[in-house]
Amino acid sequence: MKLSMLNLCAIAGIGLALSVSAAAAEPCMKVTLTGTQGGPPLFNGQAGAGTLVQYGDETNGCSAVKLQFDTGRGTNMRLSQMKVPVGKIDAIFFTHMHSDHTEGLHDILQLRWHFNSGGPKVDVVCSDDAKSPLGHTLSCSRYVTHIGDSLIESGEIAQRLAENKKRLAGGPADLVNVMTFAPGGEPVEVWQKGDVKVSAIGSRHIPGHASYRVDTPAGSVVVGGDAGNDKPAPPRSSSTSEQVEKLAAGADVLVHSTIHPVMGPDKDSGFPPPIYFRQSNAADLGALSKRAGVKNLVLTHLIPPMGAAKQGPYPIPGGALDEAAYKDAVSASGFEGNTVVGTDLVTITLPEGS
Ligand SMILES: [Zn+2]
Repeated sequence: MKLSMLNLCAIAGIGLALSVSAAAAEPCMKVTLTGTQGGPPLFNGQAGAGTLVQYGDETNGCSAVKLQFDTGRGTNMRLSQMKVPVGKIDAIFFTHMHSDHTEGLHDILQLRWHFNSGGPKVDVVCSDDAKSPLGHTLSCSRYVTHIGDSLIESGEIAQRLAENKKRLAGGPADLVNVMTFAPGGEPVEVWQKGDVKVSAIGSRHIPGHASYRVDTPAGSVVVGGDAGNDKPAPPRSSSTSEQVEKLAAGADVLVHSTIHPVMGPDKDSGFPPPIYFRQSNAADLGALSKRAGVKNLVLTHLIPPMGAAKQGPYPIPGGALDEAAYKDAVSASGFEGNTVVGTDLVTITLPEGS
């Protein structure tokens, strides 16, 4: 059969339309801080530590895949401000089992159980049980498996099941697929979906601490968590983690918990030295970023928070810090990339300029 000129033009037109839409659908990712508070203290309504990484293309607002790293206090509230439904999160990753990074999981999973019991399950990715030399064990899998226990004990789960039998009988933990891994000295792939690959490396803070890297065609982000150097106190070359430095090589974005040098034992804040030394300080994070070729350093989990006169009970020597105090500490390292002093909901979109 011969094609008429009109048909040929129509086919060419369709081809053109397809190629235009394919060219327009460039991959992109968004990295958003869902909480920037460092440690258990409260300050000015800041949410606890967390980072949302979304990936997709412009047809879906860079949000086809949604990954949440740590779920500090108030994560649900920040997700609601971004209009991210908890039922749409693909996976949740934990750096470590400290409440300022984990306590938001309770209300995330209860809400998901309430309205999304039909599935899908959410992957929770974290370290295998990690035994401390002091004899205790840090267990992500037990934390997650028992996340709904208080609601079961109070009778709420039974009461709500009686109202709606489509909900899962075991409560919120029934909606979770726990995926644990052994954090080691080299990056290992721990999660993957389509073009999105997540790898992890073991890092020091408490037993079972891990840092993560997300690689996509639109760029890469490393979430360091509260990692510090393997040597828990000076003398040492840096307060930062050599494993995080390895993981962050060439990364577009490094999101990392930060302590300001003003809290150091030489400055008389009274802040406990072992807790100061197990975090990475702002100056050393700048130096790491310079060595690793990181483009954007995003400081989060700020100790102390900007504007706070105290970190918990400890006064800030010289008074409250501002954004410049953090930026000055980083720039003293010679890092010439972009430094973002994190506030809740600050977002970096990749590729840059998109
Ligand atoms: Zn922390």
